[in-house]
Amino acid sequence: MDNRDTLIEVRNLKKFFSIGDNTLKAVNDISFEIKRGETLGVVGESGCGKSTAGRTLLRLYDATGGDVLFEGKSIMNLNNQEMKAMRRNMQMIFQDPYASLNPRMTVGDIIGEALDIHGLATGQKRKERIQELLSLVSLNPEHMNRFPHEFSGGQRQRIGIARALAVEPKFIVCDEPISALDVSVQAQVVNLLEQLQEKMGLTYMFIAHDLSMVKYISDRVAVMYLGKMVELAESDALYEKPLHPYTQALLSAIPIPDPEVERNRERIVLQGDVPSPMNPPSGCHFRTRCPKAMPECAASVPVWKEVEPGHFAACHLYN
Ligand code: SF4
Repeated sequence: MDNRDTLIEVRNLKKFFSIGDNTLKAVNDISFEIKRGETLGVVGESGCGKSTAGRTLLRLYDATGGDVLFEGKSIMNLNNQEMKAMRRNMQMIFQDPYASLNPRMTVGDIIGEALDIHGLATGQKRKERIQELLSLVSLNPEHMNRFPHEFSGGQRQRIGIARALAVEPKFIVCDEPISALDVSVQAQVVNLLEQLQEKMGLTYMFIAHDLSMVKYISDRVAVMYLGKMVELAESDALYEKPLHPYTQALLSAIPIPDPEVERNRERIVLQGDVPSPMNPPSGCHFRTRCPKAMPECAASVPVWKEVEPGHFAACHLYN
């Protein structure tokens, strides 16, 4: 992993929203890299800022602060024309495939639209490319004249994937792409994403709300809580030795298939609800629910630190 070069570098990224007199700090100063060809999983409860982070990173939202570099080049100050060219490299797959597909357009036109915007193919070539993309995601190329409602949920997500792939991107933000699907279909979509990654050398940021979902697809996993990144590590290290009390609690909630292990292990039940992101606790945002909170946790914000090689955490236990 360390030998791979960096495709995306995120530096101190912030995205704040003004709501009345209040400021919602949806993404509050996060920094990380994504290596070429890897999958970075990003996990957290709803409202933690993971989807906003994905969208801000692609400039679907304007950042409040910080920088995003793609292949070493900042995308933050690109003009519309330059950003349009950059969008070919960076695509998104959405959580709700039905809401993200125009119900009045045929599947061929939904996928073809991406080709048109970037002037990639016309006429017969366009048709052939659409059929090729449908085959790539294991849909019947003959169905290009059908409408989204004629497909199942899993098939619609495949259409969303084909649309993202039409412009031959290098990087895809997958925003909870399987959360809305039946459990039986989830594994198929994950397998498809993995096959495509191998075939096309894709790099993914895979956003999910629970750790069990990202375990198998991610090379590294980041955990977010109330707009902050609290831990980031190689998947194995994160699952075997989570450092942050929040990650420990999330992992303790995942059932283990072995009944003996399941019976004897400690389960950490978090007290209280997630505080409002409008008014997060002082110091460490997790302190109101943390079983290991100490006086200093209220006084100062824990520093994001490389505690072990490649294993980062923001917690006073390690500061
Ligand atoms: Fe818990 Fe304190 Fe660490 Fe926050 S900084 S996770 S409150 S021990």
